[in-house]
Amino acid sequence: MKPAFLVVNLVATPTRASVSRCSQEPVAARRTKPTTIFRHSGPPLPTGAQTHDAYMQEAIDEAHCAYAALEVPIGAVLVCEHGQIIARGHNQVESQCDVSAHAELVCLRRAPAERARICPACRENQSGTARPASWRLTGCTLYCTLEPCSMCLSAALLARLSGIVYGAPDVRLGAAGSWIDLLRVKHPFHDSITVQGGVRRTQCAALMRSFFRMRRTMR
Ligand SMILES: [Zn+2]
Ligand SMILES: [Zn+2]
Repeated sequence: MKPAFLVVNLVATPTRASVSRCSQEPVAARRTKPTTIFRHSGPPLPTGAQTHDAYMQEAIDEAHCAYAALEVPIGAVLVCEHGQIIARGHNQVESQCDVSAHAELVCLRRAPAERARICPACRENQSGTARPASWRLTGCTLYCTLEPCSMCLSAALLARLSGIVYGAPDVRLGAAGSWIDLLRVKHPFHDSITVQGGVRRTQCAALMRSFFRMRRTMR
């Protein structure tokens, strides 16, 4: 599948509190300019640009939780095909002393147990019987503030996610094209994931810069 570049207008959503629920770190001004989007072409994502913006704000709120805990501020939310946020997570590598405690994986771990509890439409099959919890998260879209690393993108493939929307690119670890491109070659059994980057890019990147600036002053 060939990556392509396109430009969309991300329309600012109604004003929210300028401080997240988890941190006193001020949120950068919301951008209204067109944003360049890096996209791996697959089936269309289930939501539009404005909805991407709203879900990304939820991921940014999670990133603030990480920031408040002196973790690298990366957040994620997982949205089911019915538009419900079925899992939230933020980076906990330091507090858990766990290299795999990335925001994206925290979401993927929580989602199977939470999906049926949170989303009534996910709870039942079409026949009306309870659907058993499953690690397969087909139909779900992961929103994360930073381009996923190879570990998280691989886990997203294993979980059969339908889409990933990320904010800022990560030139050091990003596996959707910034460092390496895991999706450049067609996957043997899951070739229909759509990855789109650049949603609230400026705000996500500013949060990272702010964190590392703060950490340097603490040394
Ligand atoms: Zn659902
Ligand atoms: Zn990761």
